[in-house]
Amino acid sequence: MQLLGNPDSVAVNLAKLELRFCNLDYETISKLLYHAPPNLKHLVLLCWDDDRDYHGYDATECPHLCPLIRDFSKKLVHLEYAASTVCRELFFDDLEIGSLRHNGITTGLGTEGGAIEGHEKLDTHAIGETVQACRRQKRSKHRTGRIKEAIATAKAQSGGTTTSSLFGGGTNANLGAARARREAEVLLDEEDEQRARLIQGSKTPWFRRIITWHGLCQPNDTWEEVQLAADMEETGVEWVVANKDLGVASQHSHGKLPITLEIGRAFEEKFDFEPGQFCGTQASCEESDPEPDPFDEL
Ligand SMILES: [Zn+2]
Repeated sequence: MQLLGNPDSVAVNLAKLELRFCNLDYETISKLLYHAPPNLKHLVLLCWDDDRDYHGYDATECPHLCPLIRDFSKKLVHLEYAASTVCRELFFDDLEIGSLRHNGITTGLGTEGGAIEGHEKLDTHAIGETVQACRRQKRSKHRTGRIKEAIATAKAQSGGTTTSSLFGGGTNANLGAARARREAEVLLDEEDEQRARLIQGSKTPWFRRIITWHGLCQPNDTWEEVQLAADMEETGVEWVVANKDLGVASQHSHGKLPITLEIGRAFEEKFDFEPGQFCGTQASCEESDPEPDPFDEL
């Protein structure tokens, strides 16, 4: 752990890390994620399928790994994660969950343990629309912030050379600000496209496999919401989600129909993708990563 957290250690250059059923508790795993090497692109983190009678995730017992995995895994080309329980927080952040709550969308429709019943009442359309609107809003806020920053910098740099014009023409400061805005917009577009290109052009497909041994973190969540959330992830990233408790598994990729898998297939060490099914009826992806972060290919 100290080796992983030390910026001078070789771990800084570590690109691949596989921890298969090693004896680490959740506390240690959460520290590992906080100290994860910055260049890591491949993570396999398979926690034990403990046989104890599991009744959902208990915040007082251990840290909640789902949001940590969500934040940490943005840059990973390959992620495999298996845990006692998982939930929608692997996909949705606090703002998105708050937005669902704010819009009065009921999601806690499952039943304790299996979360088998109740899903038919899940308003998948409302959830999809709300989360996508929230992501658009975050993206727009991020862009506005970056553009404002660029304009403020440009104004500060030309602060001493501002001149007035009898014809109401632009001062140096205003011209500088307009240029800074244009340049910032081009840069932001380029960053968005760069991430999409990176995913699409990667030699190794971007892949995430999520396995839960004992259902969901919150007893009243539904597995269908997890599947829906996987459908809404970035274009070009393949997801496999498997729930051993329910004996179900599926493959998801934005803009394609989900594919039901035999649970045994989802556990195969080397997962071969089912050919994706094109679906023209699903909404196209308008969102990209809310915090574009260009980085080098593996
Ligand atoms: Zn969770």
